[in-house]
Amino acid sequence: MPFIDLASQYQALKPRIAERMQRVLDHGQYIMGPEVAELEGQLTAFTGARHCITVASGTEALLIALMAQGVKPGDEVITTPFTFAATAEVIVLLGAVPVFVDIEPDTCNLDGSQVEARITPRTRAIMPVSLYGQVADMAPLNDIATRHGLTVIEDAAQSFGATYQGRRSGALSTFGCTSFFPSKPLGCYGDGGAIFTSDDALAQACREIRVHGQSARYTHTRVGVGGRMDTLQCAVVLAKLERFGWELQRRAEIGARYAALLAGSGVQLLAVRPDRDCVWGQYTVFVDGRADVQARLQAQGIPTAVHYPKPLHRQPAYAAFSGDGHFPHSDAASERVMSLPMSADLTEAQQDRVAQTLRQALA
Ligand SMILES: *Cc1c(COP(=O)(O)O)cnc(C)c1O
Repeated sequence: MPFIDLASQYQALKPRIAERMQRVLDHGQYIMGPEVAELEGQLTAFTGARHCITVASGTEALLIALMAQGVKPGDEVITTPFTFAATAEVIVLLGAVPVFVDIEPDTCNLDGSQVEARITPRTRAIMPVSLYGQVADMAPLNDIATRHGLTVIEDAAQSFGATYQGRRSGALSTFGCTSFFPSKPLGCYGDGGAIFTSDDALAQACREIRVHGQSARYTHTRVGVGGRMDTLQCAVVLAKLERFGWELQRRAEIGARYAALLAGSGVQLLAVRPDRDCVWGQYTVFVDGRADVQARLQAQGIPTAVHYPKPLHRQPAYAAFSGDGHFPHSDAASERVMSLPMSADLTEAQQDRVAQTLRQALA
């Protein structure tokens, strides 16, 4: 059983993907071809953000958003230590300082109630992560940011398609950044990502930074990066978007079914708040004795993963930013989280087998 079933998705979309890719090969505009603007148009319509800027990866999206905001050496950005390294990496790359705030123990998302106490005169931005596909609690974070003149950048790499108070992930704050890494809820066949914003000036800044800071050809108004998304990868996402509505529905159904099948099994489910839904970028549960449980599942051919085994304040590259190092919920989660096979093409039979084997492993 695959952990993420990209093969079935490909079989379902094969003619559409072939057609879309062939069109790019025929017109030959491999960089910034028409599919780039077409995808950006579809994604703005989908999210409700005014602008979408496709970029080379989710990491590049976060980096370019911070650059557009003018984050500079010595600035501070408040974020979570319980995330993929890219979230903090881009902050450090700009010479800024990630200031970690612990997570809510039941959702694993940034605990907004602890944010205000960490704001200093150097704070420039708050970067919540919508982990596992559930949007972080954006409304209080936006309120805090407004009061203190800060920017909120949602790391929506795992949550594309999710909603919060009826609105889409990515379009909930000044910037939303997502990833089209193949295993994300909406993936391409390589690296890709997108920035969403409804601020015209910031969108223009992102567009310029994406192409080496050019405001016109060979006019480098600012320092930028080579951060474009390939036309071919945009074509792949366009083909996948045709099925994405169905996939979101399947993800919701599979998530609800996992919850029902695992009730009373001894695993603790991730809490999903009533004002939002989760696209289950990962279907993650909390379990005691995780290494044993994983080994028992593996012995029955069921793959699992851990997102993430070591929070950033315990990573060699980021330990210097750990402050007092007191992030008990992140530490506890890193020892107990376990992700189960999840994708829109997971069959009920496969899901039954996962749940049954997990129940046996826990018995
Ligand atoms: C995947 C991921 C990223 C990075 O995205 P890439 O496209 O791989 O660069 C950033 N943050 C989080 C939370 C992610 O899961």
